[in-house]
Amino acid sequence: MSGPVLTLSGGVGGAKLVLGLSKILDGDDLVVACNTGDDFDHFGLRICPDIDSVLYALSGLSDQQRGWGRRDETWTFMSAIQDLKGPDWFNLGDGDLATHVLRNEFLRQGQSLNAVTADLATRLGITVNVCPMTDDPVATVVQTPAGDLAFQHYFVREQCQPCVTGFRFDGIARARPNGRVIAALRSEPKAIIIAPSNPYVSVDPLLHIPGMLDAIKGANAPIVAVSPIVGGQAIKGPAAKMMAELGNDVSVLGIAQHYRDILDGLVIDLQDAHLAAEIEAMGMRVHVAQTLMTDLETRVALAQATLDFASEIAQ
Ligand code: GDP
Repeated sequence: MSGPVLTLSGGVGGAKLVLGLSKILDGDDLVVACNTGDDFDHFGLRICPDIDSVLYALSGLSDQQRGWGRRDETWTFMSAIQDLKGPDWFNLGDGDLATHVLRNEFLRQGQSLNAVTADLATRLGITVNVCPMTDDPVATVVQTPAGDLAFQHYFVREQCQPCVTGFRFDGIARARPNGRVIAALRSEPKAIIIAPSNPYVSVDPLLHIPGMLDAIKGANAPIVAVSPIVGGQAIKGPAAKMMAELGNDVSVLGIAQHYRDILDGLVIDLQDAHLAAEIEAMGMRVHVAQTLMTDLETRVALAQATLDFASEIAQ
């Protein structure tokens, strides 16, 4: 297995592990497939929140306190929008806006999202491969008792308040997987890592692209996930709330259950060590580690532990 490590990533949680991995693997040794189901158009601009979280994390631009967007951000654009009584439910920092304007311009000139993402990564000094899961439009829809909500309306405008009954990924049936991701899967990848991202709205869109799951399973590489649920809670975001509303076990058991058909191994937190045997009984290996990524050191340590676990499985 001489190929790269492929990581499937959403935004915040995924980007933390990807940053850790990038300190161990360089250049073509790391390929990151980013969810694009959260992407949407706002003020005429194409916005790709998960890709940008990964780009900002890898280039050292991300804001650690806020947990999203760029550090040292200014908000002149948003306050001008508010003065004009424009829609202000989605915050766009001034620096962040530059990313969206450039991306939009390149897309408008006819470049693919894949090419634009690679170009932005290069401009930000990133050497690992950051890829959108597809160039085709896919839109995650959150189903609620009061009707369907576009993902960002649920996530940002409604602040994840509505009860969730299910999800739909509009456009997914026609979406073609990113060629760089498929090439990575065909080049004897060392490991396939599912980052600690939201399983329903960050990872499932990736796995539902026609051909992706077969390519992942057919890659003959260890498939390992890091649990986004620690001690029965999400570190950030609605993953635990969604699990409860969907009637799933809000614990690492629920994560294992969700991925049981694809995983060879699951990394769980020290706090959840007592559930290891129950997960192993589902037919996957378990590695217990410190999975809270609070700084660069813990990001790199978890990345290394995950890679070592995958190598152990491969032996
Ligand atoms: P989003 O697309 O921006 O919502 O980001 P992701 O889907 O990639 O990440 C959200 C998930 O990351 C949540 O379920 C969190 O529990 C998880 N997460 C965030 N930080 C950490 C961390 O330090 N450790 C672990 N294990 N999970 C984390």
